Amino acid sequence: MSKTNVAFLGLGIMGSGMARRLLSAGFPLTVYNRNREKSIPFAKDGALVAETPREAASKAQIILSMVADDNASREVWLGENGALAGAAPNSLLIECSTLSGAWIHELAGKAAERNCKFLDAPVTGTKPHAAAGELLFLVGGDGETVDAAKPVFSAMGRETIHLGPLGSGSLMKLVNNFVCGVQAASLAEAVSLITAGGLDRDKALSLLTSGAPGSGIVKRVAERVTSNDYAPNFMLRWMAKDLSYAIEEAAEKNISLETATAALAKFQRAISEGHGDEDFSAVTKSSAKSSNS
Ligand code: NAP
Repeated sequence: MSKTNVAFLGLGIMGSGMARRLLSAGFPLTVYNRNREKSIPFAKDGALVAETPREAASKAQIILSMVADDNASREVWLGENGALAGAAPNSLLIECSTLSGAWIHELAGKAAERNCKFLDAPVTGTKPHAAAGELLFLVGGDGETVDAAKPVFSAMGRETIHLGPLGSGSLMKLVNNFVCGVQAASLAEAVSLITAGGLDRDKALSLLTSGAPGSGIVKRVAERVTSNDYAPNFMLRWMAKDLSYAIEEAAEKNISLETATAALAKFQRAISEGHGDEDFSAVTKSSAKSSNS
């Protein structure tokens, strides 16, 4: 049986791995990326390369997006030559980027106006998981639509969790990432204190990671510190973005995310010091000196 035509928008760190999984699984694929250079390897491997999101969408029944933030998502779906204008009625749009709930609901409304189905389906896992098809999809939307999307999720992920109506996947993802961001910021302060206090840094990190504080994320950040390797799997600027979306989302529900607010300040400081394009673990390179020192 022939497979559904799929369009993939956004070939960054995550999108490139995900799109490659779809190609390997035999989906006829059209790709679009703002910077066209990133599409070239996909053309060599049999994907069609679209000049615009609109053109990509016009060639597919399922259209996925994996781009940076709300602005990027707005651009690829609704911008000049955006994907929504090219999507046929009844096609299925899947937004996998980590975005704000407000934007997800606005976009879902626009999709409904065009009689398209829509899911928010952000992921957990990072660069190697995307490349290996081991992502976890956190999905919001109606059950029948989630079932229709399962073949593409299965090509890219190890599991698909349906969390509830539209926006549920995005909310879960923001909760997940703000908890990760807070732990990373806390470990960054710990590294400053360890160093200032004259402890052996690697011995201290080994104690922390093998003890009660040794969560998955703390282990991941500590490994980067020990190996002094900050090549991005997940860029620091995107962690700051996720913290700010989580804070906004909570504020709309009259909840104050105080630890996330403190963590965000730490990540913003790291960005202002030039670490935004490094892995988020580079938050540990940012100074924790108090302003009166
Ligand atoms: P990335 O490598 O920085 O890729 C970002 C993508 O967005 C690129 O394709 C980029 O195009 C595109 N883009 C940015 N601004 C745009 C605009 N204004 N118009 C059109 N396209 C635009 O980021 P990533 O790590 O793949 O992350 C993508 C999404 O997944 C983010 O929402 C992130 O929070 C989420 N996420 C990431 C990870 C991870 O570990 N990396 C894990 C889970 C979720 P260009 O190539 O032209 O710049």
